[in-house]
Amino acid sequence: MGLKIWLGDGLVDQQDAVVSVFDHSLLYGDGVFEGIRVYNGKIFECEAHLVRLYESAKVICLPVPMEIDELTAAMEQTVAANDVKEGYIRLIVTRGIGDLGLNPFLCKDGKIIIIADNVQLYPEELYEKGMKVTSVPSVRNHPMSCPPQVKSLNYLNNVLAKIEAIQSGAGEGIMYNHTGYVAEATGDNVFIVRNGVIYTPPVQAGSLDGITRQVVIRLAEKEGFKVVEKDLTRFDLYVADELFLTGTAAEVIGAVEMDGRTIGTGTPGPVTKLLREKFFEYARS
Ligand code: PMP
Repeated sequence: MGLKIWLGDGLVDQQDAVVSVFDHSLLYGDGVFEGIRVYNGKIFECEAHLVRLYESAKVICLPVPMEIDELTAAMEQTVAANDVKEGYIRLIVTRGIGDLGLNPFLCKDGKIIIIADNVQLYPEELYEKGMKVTSVPSVRNHPMSCPPQVKSLNYLNNVLAKIEAIQSGAGEGIMYNHTGYVAEATGDNVFIVRNGVIYTPPVQAGSLDGITRQVVIRLAEKEGFKVVEKDLTRFDLYVADELFLTGTAAEVIGAVEMDGRTIGTGTPGPVTKLLREKFFEYARS
């Protein structure tokens, strides 16, 4: 049996959830999206995700055809209709149907799409052993191009970075910004631990303002850690005691090898493990 998908203004069967080939989201990657977790049947950090969605839409002059409370209700309805308990929501706003030219102002009937499904994204073993990451040549979006804080449907730059990571045998790629500082991973934010202090690049270094990042910073501070947002270099990552990534899909995951260097002891460290544990306690509370 297929899923129930929210399309436009209501739920439809999966096979009927189709969009036009003239939708500029397909033709140009013109639209915005969110990836959101469901824990215990509850939408995780719903408001924070929606704030980011509306801000992304504002920056690309995209009208969202629903108010925030309507959109929340639509997501809840989609989660309930698919009986999602531990899952993932993909929320998409498309630019709508236009002609073959770029002009977004000619587009009509932009669609809200909500997909909710039960998922287990990564094997547990990867969390226990830690992952291998690599520096990738594709540079994170320049702040004067489509701003890196916009979670747009145009992910080609990050897709290229992901290709580079996979082709060099790593699970994730570390992306740098145009000035050579660490920006983020292809779909996650980056943290290091050094002498008991936690560091992460500021959002202005070219990362997405990750919701998991926000939560982990709060939880770490609650545990008494000092969290410093500062520009980080390759050097900082190589010599870190611990390196970990945060994101909706990956949650909190240790990275134990980078560019052929062993990070820390070569297994996920105590701070990574503690924050992963605290993250789940919070998510399931
Ligand atoms: N950076 C990028 C480029 C991402 O796509 C994501 C995942 N949405 C993240 C960081 C992590 O953000 P979040 O914790 O909100 O999932």
